[in-house]
Amino acid sequence: MALSGVEIFKLLPKTNCKKCGHPTCLAFAMKLAQRQASLDACPDVSEEAKRKLGEASAPPFRPITMGAGNSVVNMGEETVLFRHEKKFVNPCALAVEVKDTDSEESIKAAVDALRDSELERVGQKLRIDAIFIKEVSGDPAKFSQTVLSISAQAPDMPLIISTTNPAAAEAALEKIPGTRPVLYGANESNAEAMAETAKKHKVILGVYAANLDALSELTEKIKATGVEDMVIDSGARTAGDILRDNTFIRRAAIKKSVKSVGYPVISFAQRDDHMLEALVASLCIAKYSSIVVLSSIEKWKSLALFTLRQNIYTDPQVPMQVEQKIYSIGEAGADAPLMITTNFSLTFFIVSGEVENSKVPARLAVMDSEGLSVLTAWAAGKFTASKIAQFIQESGIEKEISKKELIIPGYVSILSGAIEEKLPGWKVVVGPREANALPAFLKTMN
Ligand code: SF4
Repeated sequence: MALSGVEIFKLLPKTNCKKCGHPTCLAFAMKLAQRQASLDACPDVSEEAKRKLGEASAPPFRPITMGAGNSVVNMGEETVLFRHEKKFVNPCALAVEVKDTDSEESIKAAVDALRDSELERVGQKLRIDAIFIKEVSGDPAKFSQTVLSISAQAPDMPLIISTTNPAAAEAALEKIPGTRPVLYGANESNAEAMAETAKKHKVILGVYAANLDALSELTEKIKATGVEDMVIDSGARTAGDILRDNTFIRRAAIKKSVKSVGYPVISFAQRDDHMLEALVASLCIAKYSSIVVLSSIEKWKSLALFTLRQNIYTDPQVPMQVEQKIYSIGEAGADAPLMITTNFSLTFFIVSGEVENSKVPARLAVMDSEGLSVLTAWAAGKFTASKIAQFIQESGIEKEISKKELIIPGYVSILSGAIEEKLPGWKVVVGPREANALPAFLKTMN
């Protein structure tokens, strides 16, 4: 059971030295109790206290990393039920299913589609994260050969190896040492053998049971054999059952500190109807799955799921921002137009994208507005004539340009006169209100 703030406080040094970044030991204890701080932040805590506090400060969902190399997937570590309470930590992984009975061409096409799935949105690279390889053939040799072949084609891609046959699991894992896949398929009847195989190959064990009670018992039984890293599957397959079970799991681990379900959840969204599959996968992303298995990769589906995932896993308390500086877009020479905007990521990527589309080389001055968009920053006093003038002067851009002309967003046209007053010798030009009008606008400037 988790300790209360006062119980934690009793175990801290009580010197109020502030080294943890909190004004008092009590304040730090309260943050620990709310799982909003890590015990490591206090350098003076005793070994005895560390041992006692270990459970209280450990995240309710075990942190687990799937894969090795450059494309690992981090899972677990979640501490809240709702993202407005703090944030969701590790974005759920999307995996695509292939079967060992699929033809070589179809497996290659799936691997190629997976490689091609990456896209950039608001400065982040998004893609399908893993391959789920299902044993259907009943032939360990065929299964292990399929696993080896896929691993060779996509050496950096995390794998989920799905079989209930310990012999097939053993044969497959022998072929891909050091890749730290998930071995999915431990159940009530094969748990001991699968746990031994998982321990031997140091992989994550995927545990399936027909309901939550059975799952909780099974993870405890497997943990007793020495397997620490698991992903869990309550057997839920319909949207309603997934929502119910995932919510129970999240609540039980966070609110009741039930360790036997404190593991990342794997969910299965595959459907013949791809629209329905996208809807079920969306539910899994929004409601607590750490891995969602899909039947196929289509660009439209990926884009919808990536966008949802990115929104759900963005920290709501921290606006997405880009660095304050003057960005060159294209080969911007001394006479290239100079525009200014704020450093809200979405604003930056939309504006810079439209400037790129215009094919007119230009400079974009991006001013720190604490991540607020143009109108909000102006209303909040963070995008004012004085601040704009100060930024432009301190940037040193004057030395690089032949024409002292600054294009401001149409929404803040009201600032044009005041900026000219504060930037003597400069001309302020009012640009369009909407970014999509920039290409036409820039072409008229040439
Ligand atoms: S660093 Fe440790 S001793 Fe110092 S105030 Fe924080 S909790 Fe207390």
